[in-house]
Amino acid sequence: MNAGHQVLVFLNRRGFASTLLCHDCGWTAECKRCDARLTYHQQSACLCCHHCDYRQGVPATCDACGGGQLLYLGQGTQRGESTLEALFPDTPIIRIDRDSTRRKHAMSDYMAEINSGKPCILVGTQMLAKGHHLPHLGLVAILDVDQGLYSPDFRASERMGQLVIQVAGRAGRESRRGTTWIQTHRPDHAWLRQLLDEGYAAFARSLLDERRQANWPPFSRLALLRAQASSVERALAFLAQIPNYGSPPPDVHLLGPVPAPMTRRAGAHRAQLLLMATSPAPLHHYLDRLIPQLSTLPQRSGVRWSLDVDPQDLF
Ligand SMILES: [Zn+2]
Ligand SMILES: [Zn+2]
Ligand SMILES: [Zn+2]
Repeated sequence: MNAGHQVLVFLNRRGFASTLLCHDCGWTAECKRCDARLTYHQQSACLCCHHCDYRQGVPATCDACGGGQLLYLGQGTQRGESTLEALFPDTPIIRIDRDSTRRKHAMSDYMAEINSGKPCILVGTQMLAKGHHLPHLGLVAILDVDQGLYSPDFRASERMGQLVIQVAGRAGRESRRGTTWIQTHRPDHAWLRQLLDEGYAAFARSLLDERRQANWPPFSRLALLRAQASSVERALAFLAQIPNYGSPPPDVHLLGPVPAPMTRRAGAHRAQLLLMATSPAPLHHYLDRLIPQLSTLPQRSGVRWSLDVDPQDLF
């Protein structure tokens, strides 16, 4: 900023903080309809669920122990904005996320201010990862990339790598080399090191090798059968019947059923069965036989199911 450049602080999360936590007993504010924590929104002073849109007011005391020391944990964009405002009182801070750009023309107003080239700090999410032209950025700081290192989803590492490359690419577009800072608890993590030291192509080749060994796409084809019911046992029982029906061919493997990673969502209890095959043809032949049978299975009452072929996420 002293050199007259702009700074982008990139955060992969909306809201003021991800979690409301009780200092005394460790209770966190959770959605009553999903297995998910509520996100605090400062402007509307409410807790909301990003999975089902449930909203409630902020409690004054802990629901579990009645304690009064409730803390906000995690860095959402609104909290990042407040922190930066305190640290840089003379610098304009512009927050760009889905909440701040809801107003009509908000985005074009922000872009006009940014393109004027005056030093400022942008705080943004995914919306700023690509698309908009940001020629005056000198520094990009990416906060907390660690979700991408620990997610159970086999695509999370790939997405993390793409995001880091995209966001880092925002710095120093015009004739000037930019700087990127990455915040992580694991600066020694092999994926991250390779991405930074050898670049995206080498990183992608390593991920491909791992996928080949684990037989994940693109070396196999997946279909995800999701079921939801009033209890996870019912959803699991429905899916558990499937291996016994229509005898899957040897080149189609059934993994599960297991409870979905977010078992409860919008009040429904969810389970899933993953079907994996080395090539599309046997998978599709099996699915063609299986689908008509699903509506005749004995334990199907009260169960809703859906089939996702080539699922992009496993949740
Ligand atoms: Zn929200
Ligand atoms: Zn919810
Ligand atoms: Zn408590």
